[in-house]
Amino acid sequence: MKGAILGDIIGSRFERSGIKTTEFDLFTVECSFTDDTVLTVAIAAAILGQKDYAETVQEYALRYPDAGYGGTFKQWMRGDILGPYNSWGNGSAMRVSPVGWLFNDLESVRREARATAAITHDHPEGIKGAEAIAAAIFLLRQGAEKEDVRQYVQETFGYNLRRTVEEIRPGYAFDVSCQGSVPESIIAFLDSKDLVDAIRLAISLGGDTDTQAAMAASLAEPFYGGIPPALEEVMVAFLPNEFVDVTHHFERALQVG
Ligand SMILES: [Mg+2]
Repeated sequence: MKGAILGDIIGSRFERSGIKTTEFDLFTVECSFTDDTVLTVAIAAAILGQKDYAETVQEYALRYPDAGYGGTFKQWMRGDILGPYNSWGNGSAMRVSPVGWLFNDLESVRREARATAAITHDHPEGIKGAEAIAAAIFLLRQGAEKEDVRQYVQETFGYNLRRTVEEIRPGYAFDVSCQGSVPESIIAFLDSKDLVDAIRLAISLGGDTDTQAAMAASLAEPFYGGIPPALEEVMVAFLPNEFVDVTHHFERALQVG
């Protein structure tokens, strides 16, 4: 979960820039948290407080109305659209990471991932993107190797993960679909040598940088043993207190099990 927030903040200043390099400063004054963070925190808060996903996501979105949401989501959060709108956008996958941590068997993780997606992103690709990210996080938490995750996700969800960032990068462009951004973000993690490298690789695709860095880092977090404390310290300085409170609550819940 904190990986997603960190990736979002670092990737935020590159959205729609078409960046194609891994060489850049991690934090500048142009960085900020965006919709990926707001809705990730909302999902965590909903699970921890045993609250309704749709209501909680809507409440958080309305408290941070200018965080970079897609047009249809904005209509949904204001109540202009009732119920899910058949989206295949990566919004379902960008907010799902707490599910991979807060449920303790693969079946529950996948079921809850589907439930968090279905409030808005009920297209099969929207559901699949959320399920793939949450399932991968859960498997990595359980000690799975990268190759186990590659094989599981590929077989279960049909994503082509037999590619590398180097191969994808030259022909890749901004793509907010799950099917066109989730597998590439998973590959950024699979190709990485540490958590920061996963974020750099995801951003270097030059696509939906904040969301793809959020997804790659949410997989890197369990695999590499968490967020480096120095980065977490900077990350927290970008966040409102209520988000920090939710991350603390989340951590206490993990300790209790
Ligand atoms: Mg964003």
